[in-house]
Amino acid sequence: MKLIFERSVPGRHLDLLPACDVELVEIPAALKREVAPALPEVSESELSRHYTELNKQVHGVNSGFYPLGSCTMKYNPRIDEEMAALPGFANIHPLAPAHTTLGCQEALETSKKYLCEIFGMDDCTFQPAAGAHGEFTGVLLIKQYHDARGEGQQRTKIIVPDSAHGTNPATANMCGYQVVNIASAPNGCVDLEALKAVLGPDTAGLMLTNPNTVGIFDENILEITRLVHEVGGLCYYDGANLNAVMGVVRPGDMGFDCIHSNLHKTFATPHGGGGPGAGAVGCKAHLAPYLPKSALLDGGEHIQVRSFSGNFGVVLKAMTYVMTLGQEGIPEAAKNAVLNANYLQAKIKGTFEPAFDRICMHEFVLDLSKYKKETGVSALDVAKTLIDHGMHPPTIYFPLIVHEALMLEPTETETRETLDWAAEIYRNLYELGFKDPEYMHNAPHSAYIGRPDDVRATRTPVVRWTKA
Ligand SMILES: *Cc1c(COP(=O)(O)O)cnc(C)c1O
Repeated sequence: MKLIFERSVPGRHLDLLPACDVELVEIPAALKREVAPALPEVSESELSRHYTELNKQVHGVNSGFYPLGSCTMKYNPRIDEEMAALPGFANIHPLAPAHTTLGCQEALETSKKYLCEIFGMDDCTFQPAAGAHGEFTGVLLIKQYHDARGEGQQRTKIIVPDSAHGTNPATANMCGYQVVNIASAPNGCVDLEALKAVLGPDTAGLMLTNPNTVGIFDENILEITRLVHEVGGLCYYDGANLNAVMGVVRPGDMGFDCIHSNLHKTFATPHGGGGPGAGAVGCKAHLAPYLPKSALLDGGEHIQVRSFSGNFGVVLKAMTYVMTLGQEGIPEAAKNAVLNANYLQAKIKGTFEPAFDRICMHEFVLDLSKYKKETGVSALDVAKTLIDHGMHPPTIYFPLIVHEALMLEPTETETRETLDWAAEIYRNLYELGFKDPEYMHNAPHSAYIGRPDDVRATRTPVVRWTKA
């Protein structure tokens, strides 16, 4: 495909600007460019084709199956976008006088009420702009709590199981805590003996991803939170991905003191391009006094992790999502997410091996270590070959505790036919690895970009066109 710059022809353009209705003023020379900016010059139809062509190269949930584990790439109903785009919401200024924004305030309060109900918590903030940002905020609540009780100096450690999301240890570290890593038991759950061995008067808290990154709901959850509380620590629930449990069980009832949930995963905001998100942070009453507030609005001394009330549009989408699904629809979505994951896991069985051969929650992990030994075909090779079949690859090489991992999260918005189709392709690729591994080493064969140098692309991305 040609770049828009390569389609450019000097002087070709279309401008339909309204006639100037103000006095012309000469821009001071010091502020003027000396050289015109190198912008592409194309006709309107060329421009339209350019973007349509780009659109065809992108794989999104609207183009096909996208089972990217830990990311919950589900279909987000259009009504959520429509509600967030209502002029009364979208055009409001954050500094508008409070008495003119009563509707927006009510929407925030309503969202808070619904999410607190789903979390099993007493209060909530929408300030954090992402999941990791929510974790940071939540752990700061724990820190302030211990400080207020005069135990801040003594409680220096946060326990993080090795099946946690990678952002958990990073968060604890960012908040100045020493991270104590504990290994999982062979069944993928927290090893209670390992937990007991590290608990003590220096424990500030525990961060737990549940269901964890191998898609397993910890069967000892009540015992885990009891043990942490017994030594005076607090429990943090990473609920970035609440798809398996929302409306079915509540983290607050499991004994957790605070939680974050990614509204851009579970609650209907599309994500993946780094666009606006929200890490809603809920907490029990004993942590509520430390929640961030907008200092600008109430003049008080609070921590503030972002301006105003966070990404308001994302909160509105979450509110609409919860209101449209309702008390029956939310748990139904969760149960279907779990059903779909188990259905796909069962359909792939007998080919790629599950990392943990048991009932999963909303996602499951395949372990290709043995397969790679037998065929030479890696998890990366399988992922790249999947691209040729019109589906997005699963998450690969994560979680780190499974080598050659493929992590699949089909989500509740996929039909049985799609899951059957996907399972069939996985089964075929499994066979192909034995017959024609070379073909898979060289995949994808149909994509514009095959195997970029991922590290270089991330560290030194080339995002600017330069004349050849
Ligand atoms: C995605 C995710 C996060 C991080 O969320 P971001 O919005 O990417 O910062 C944290 N924990 C879990 C379990 C996740 O899946």
